[in-house]
Amino acid sequence: MAQIIDGKAIAAALYEKMRAEVDELALKYGRRPGLWAVIVGEDPASQVYVNNNLNRARKTGLVSEVINLPESTRQDELLKVLGDLNEDERVDGILLQLPLPAHIDKDAAISAIAPDKDIDGYAGMAGGLSARRGAVAPCTSRACIELIKSTGIPVEGKHAVVVGRGELVGKPVAALLLGENATVTIAHSRTQDLAGVLSGADIVVAAVGRAGLITGDMLKPGAIVIDVGINRTEDGRIVGDVEFESAARRAGYITPVPGGVGPMTIAMLIRNTLDCYLKHTA
Ligand code: NAP
Repeated sequence: MAQIIDGKAIAAALYEKMRAEVDELALKYGRRPGLWAVIVGEDPASQVYVNNNLNRARKTGLVSEVINLPESTRQDELLKVLGDLNEDERVDGILLQLPLPAHIDKDAAISAIAPDKDIDGYAGMAGGLSARRGAVAPCTSRACIELIKSTGIPVEGKHAVVVGRGELVGKPVAALLLGENATVTIAHSRTQDLAGVLSGADIVVAAVGRAGLITGDMLKPGAIVIDVGINRTEDGRIVGDVEFESAARRAGYITPVPGGVGPMTIAMLIRNTLDCYLKHTA
């Protein structure tokens, strides 16, 4: 049976470490890292998500505030708010909550965030991680790498298969794995014989959004399996892209859904803010 990679526990340990680091940094540089969130409109799910993140940031010792803008906010008004945050020295990271209202050009808003304050790593997404200078990696892709490393198994030289080539997870995680000297294959909806591709994979990252796409018989025995997918079943459960029971019988390590990548993603949002702070202070 595979060992479970407990994202919640790993994230909790990381928060403790970051809390100590933040206290030290505040003493050294005379200010705490700052994370500002911007929400446009009244979407309740966005409010909950942002509040969770900000509470977590405050518990970790950061200064954190939310700017709530009405649904009717014009694009130029939003760009002005983002421009002001770019200039504000208390602000190290800007979390622009998506989705934005339809009348706002999402790409223009995202590109208005200074790359060195873009803690979601939007700037680092398209076209790989060198898209804009000073960009941090997107939180979910960073979370995947941390979870793989938590196994203690070296990534270098391993064959990693990333299933999904989305801008948010698949592509950046593939780039990070390459940076760790893995041999990387990216599979997608046009890939022929996914099972054949997976059969040689020491590391599998599934970022598709299809429940049960990957089953245990497709995996190499002992593989590290990171399941990014979030899917709701007909009976209301949340499951990943990997069929957990059969995969856990075959894999060496596996992340559960929920409780794997999700909790680590929020921890990485805060890690990204600390990294931006270090760039601003050092
Ligand atoms: P996305 O941009 O829609 O990308 C999905 C990818 O899956 C596409 O590249 C698509 O291929 C590929 N795909 C679709 N069907 C496939 C199949 N049968 N076989 C192989 N590949 C297939 O989605 P995303 O934003 O990357 O998100 C992926 C999943 O991760 C979603 O379930 C999302 O909810 C979840 N997610 C979780 C977190 C977290 O914190 N845990 C964060 C972000 C996202 P094509 O390119 O050929 O269409």
